[in-house]
Parts: sequence; structure tokens; C-alpha cells
Amino acid sequence: MTLFRKELRDALSMLYSSSDAMQLLESLGDLMESKIMPNARRIDAERIFPRENLDMLFKHGLCRIPFPSRYGGLELPYPVYIASLEMLGMACASTGLSLAIHCTVCSGIEMFGSEEQKEHYLKPLIHGKMLGAFALTEPDAGSDAKAIQTRARLDEHNNSYIINGRKRFITNGGYADLYLVFAVTEKGYSAFLVDKDCNGLRIGKYMDKMGVRGSTLTELHLNDCIVPKANLLGEEGKGYDYAMEMLHTGRIGIAALSTGIAQIAFEKSLAYSKRRYAFGKPIAEFQMIRQKLADMHTAISAARHLTLSAAWAKDNGLDYALIAAEAKLFASETAKMVSDEAIQIHGAYGYVDEYDVNRHWRDARMMSIGEGTSEIMRLIISHRLLRSDVL
Ligand SMILES: Cc1cc2nc3c(=O)[nH]c(=O)nc-3n(C[C@H](O)[C@H](O)[C@H](O)COP(=O)(O)OP(=O)(O)OC[C@H]3O[C@@H](n4cnc5c(N)ncnc54)[C@H](O)[C@@H]3O)c2cc1C
Repeated sequence: MTLFRKELRDALSMLYSSSDAMQLLESLGDLMESKIMPNARRIDAERIFPRENLDMLFKHGLCRIPFPSRYGGLELPYPVYIASLEMLGMACASTGLSLAIHCTVCSGIEMFGSEEQKEHYLKPLIHGKMLGAFALTEPDAGSDAKAIQTRARLDEHNNSYIINGRKRFITNGGYADLYLVFAVTEKGYSAFLVDKDCNGLRIGKYMDKMGVRGSTLTELHLNDCIVPKANLLGEEGKGYDYAMEMLHTGRIGIAALSTGIAQIAFEKSLAYSKRRYAFGKPIAEFQMIRQKLADMHTAISAARHLTLSAAWAKDNGLDYALIAAEAKLFASETAKMVSDEAIQIHGAYGYVDEYDVNRHWRDARMMSIGEGTSEIMRLIISHRLLRSDVL
């Protein structure tokens, strides 16, 4: 069996029919089903950072999929990468979150970095020789990303910036080799590539969490952190636009992970409903259970098509911010609904650890918070519809 399920293959083939891409997804699906999925429960229970999984996926080229060949990328369409994230959501959401954030950092460097930065960082990042982290959120600035307090001062004499501030809720914290840090300079909101061993950078508290427990979440302390001037990403003062663009991109990835979590919770529910007997027959024969299964599957299909369409829009140079927000909103809410119904269908067996569906529910709960909450997605969507540019 491969995690490259028929539904996903069919949805993708409406957009692309390249056999190379399909073969790659088939083999990634095999790898995830045989090597990654069996360890997902242990990774969650023991809070193991999924380094081995990431290394396997890097080796198989997952992170190279959407990037240009001149940096060692496979230059395949973005929906192919997004399809691989859906499978990873099925296999192990902790690994999926770590990898998705890493790839968001890669996209940022690809979109806004200099040639030198692409050579120095993008190449090793997409080959998995370095791991990336995205450091935007602060103790007092989450949804209101413009409120960040981290400051960067240009030190012309030493050709560097000196950064001071504190970041919080940083995925891959402590394991990343590179932190993409947002800070405000004299010219405004800016983005910096900060190496892990940069003077003045310290990893703070590791935060325990209810789901995606294999991926780390840490604080980041920047105390007179000295970053070479060459590590400014793009132009000074344009960092907010860069952050928003990276978030639009990253949200399609979170939507794909959400769809994958929903898909695996659905599959377990379908199988269980056929073998669990009550009142002398399989519970799948009760109309109320059938209605749940039908609603779950319909919502997953809609989430998948919306997510792949958002990826297609990005790939084809369209303005994809609206559809990316819609995909993130719909898929993450679908993952919550489906994993909740999955627990209901499993009854007490769903509430205890027996079938892992409570893990899917805990993992799904994150998806409507990280990379912008559902409320913020609704704000983005409604502002776009009302033609306001507030966000
Ligand atoms: C597992 C996990 C991983 C994460 N990884 C990263 C990472 O790698 N890098 C990073 O920078 N951040 C990361 N985050 C942080 C995440 O992006 C923020 O949690 C998120 O943006 C929300 O910010 P907040 O938690 O401060 O909530 P707040 O902004 O304080 O919001 C609290 C509540 O108020 C609502 N709200 C806020 N403003 C409005 C409004 N205008 N209208 C209506 N409702 C509103 C929100 O929707 C939410 O329900 C991660 C978070 C989690 C949980």
C-alpha cells in the first residue's frame, strides 16, 4: 500500500499528468507508509524530534520538489509538493509540521534572497544539509504581526546588524541551523538570516504541547545578536510583505497537512465501522454512522481540491492569497471536524489511545492556530472580498 491514495492521485491528475511526478509521489507514499507511519505514535508519545524521518524525506528529494534545478531542485509543479505534504499529514503530523515550516523558509529565500544567499543557504536547505526555522511570533505579537518588538540596529562600522528581542512558539527551535528572524530597523520591518551559532542567539524554553508533539516549539532570545549585513533578506523595510507572502505559501502546506490528518482519521473510522458490532450488526449499517462517514469524506474531498487549486494558482502566477486562506481555513476546520467524528465513531476506543484517533484530533487542533488562526483567515478573506488592504 502507498499513501498516494486514489483520491489524491485523481485530484492531482486533474491538474497535472506528468508520470515522473506521479512516480515520485508513489515512492514517497511507500516510504511514508512503511518507514514513517509506524513510528508516528512513538514520536508523539515520547516527544522525539523526527530527525530520522526528515533525513529520509530529504534523501528522497521531497524538499527539492518545487525549487529551481540550478539550486539542485526538481523543478516540479507546486501541487506535487503539496500532495506529498498531504501524505505526510497522514503518516506523521509532527514530521509534516517540521518539514512544512522548513520549506516555508526555503521559499522565502528563493523568493527574496540574493544569489549568494541562495547558494549559501537555499542549496543546503533543500538538500536537508541544514534545517530552517521561521521566527516571527513574539510573546506579545501573534496575529498582530506588525506589533513585533524585536529591533535590529545597523552597525556600519562592523558591517553588521545587532538584533535584540524575544521570539516565541518557534517550530524546529533548538534543531534548526538557520532562523529566519523578523525585526524592525530604522527603515522598518525587515527579515534576517540568523545562523544557529550566531553570537547572542540563545534557545530559550522548550514548550510542551497537546499535539504535533515530535516537532519542537521553543523561545528564541536575541541579545545583541550580531548578524552580518549580507544576511539581510531582500530589502530593509520590506520584511512585513515578505512575511505575509511566506505565510500565504505556508498556509497551503498547512491545508495539505490538515487534509492528510483528516484522511487518515476517516480511513480508520471507515474500517472500524465495518468491524465493530452493536445490536447484532456492524455500526456501519446505522444511518447515523453512514451520514457521518459521508460528511467526513465529502469535506475531505472539498479540502483537497481547494488546497490543490491554491497550489495551482501559486504555480501559475495568479494572486493566490485569497484561495490559500480559504484552503487553510476550510482544511484545518475539516481536520478538526473529521478527527472529532472519528473519536465518536470509535466510541470509548477512540477516547483511549487504542486506535490513535485521539492523536489525530490533538494534531488537528493545531492546524487552525499556527500560520494564522481561523479568525485571521476569515479576516483576510472578508477584507479581500471587500477590497480592503488592511491585512
Ligand atoms: C504548534 C505551533 C507551531 C507554531 N510555529 C510557529 C513558527 O514556527 N514560527 C512562528 O513565528 N510562529 C509559530 N506559531 C505561532 C502562531 O503563528 C501563532 O500562535 C498565531 O499566529 C496566533 O497568535 P497567538 O497565539 O499570539 O494568538 P493571538 O494573536 O493572541 O490571538 C488570540 C485569539 O484572538 C483571536 N484574534 C486575534 N486578533 C483577532 C482579530 N483581529 N479578530 C478576531 N479575532 C482575533 C485569534 O484568532 C485567537 O483566537 C506556532 C504556533 C503553534 C501553536
